[in-house]
Amino acid sequence: LREPQLQLTRALRAIATLHDARLQATSGWFHSAAAGGPEHQPAYVNCVARVRTDMAPEEVLGKLQAIETDAKRTRSVTRWTPRTLDLDLLLYADRVQDDPSLTLPHPRMVVRQFVLQPAAQVAPDWEHPDCRWSLSQLAAHLRYAVPIVALVGPTYAQRVSLCREILEATDAQLLAWPEAIATADSGGLVAERRVQWRRIGQEQLAAFTWTHLSAPIICPFWPSEFNDGGLTMDRPPNIPIPKVLIHIAPEAMSSDSCKTSHPCGPCSFQHIRSRHWGPILRIRSDTKRQILEECLAAIQAMKPC
Ligand code: AMP
Repeated sequence: LREPQLQLTRALRAIATLHDARLQATSGWFHSAAAGGPEHQPAYVNCVARVRTDMAPEEVLGKLQAIETDAKRTRSVTRWTPRTLDLDLLLYADRVQDDPSLTLPHPRMVVRQFVLQPAAQVAPDWEHPDCRWSLSQLAAHLRYAVPIVALVGPTYAQRVSLCREILEATDAQLLAWPEAIATADSGGLVAERRVQWRRIGQEQLAAFTWTHLSAPIICPFWPSEFNDGGLTMDRPPNIPIPKVLIHIAPEAMSSDSCKTSHPCGPCSFQHIRSRHWGPILRIRSDTKRQILEECLAAIQAMKPC
């Protein structure tokens, strides 16, 4: 992009002139490195707008997509890129919906500095309807909380190997103990071992010195997990809220051999919609490759802009 601010200014003007919408506030420009996608992309410029409208959310998204299409049409063929302009609907009142054509709140917003920082400028007190934290709380958490990225979900062995791949691709460090990883790698964990693993993990987390950490700490579990990968409502004392808790949906990784030998049962997905656990990134992708990409993009997006 040669003139990203110009593209954004035009898009905001187009939103302001929509028939059924009133542009109430716009944030400053926030620059960020590309989070995910191909390598060597130029930096992005981001902005969040607060709009009042009577339109239904699907209609709002339709209007935003029309503005995106118009922006792409103004570019010459050789300079065209699919990301000339990317308009997302982050929140619509306190609507929660899981439709792939329109997911609300936007599933990745809680892990993106370049979204939460500008969003907190235009709507600091707006409550995220999932975790019930305000946007300014979410922005401060993502910026200042200890950089723990914890993975929860139905299978341990896959998570451990995911963590390994994350370590290879980032400057993150692993928080886990070797014997647990060895057990997980040798074909999954039986119930008693999972309980033991959780207890050891809880002790290790409680004893950890959380200050002066800059690189992310990756943790392939979180102490209050149920055996099925959901989270209990009681948070152990002295354990911080992870900067990002990544929940891998039970239907993901369905071909996992660990799951066949140690079925985890239905996952308590609804238990983790809670103020108690803060921001959660839910990943529903089917393949390990996609899940890894989501995790890496989240770690990239956590970096301050
Ligand atoms: P992208 O242009 O890469 O951001 O992807 C747009 C696709 O994501 C479209 O197919 C949308 O229907 C879908 N989508 C789902 N939820 C949202 C949302 N909250 N905001 C924008 N697009 C969304």
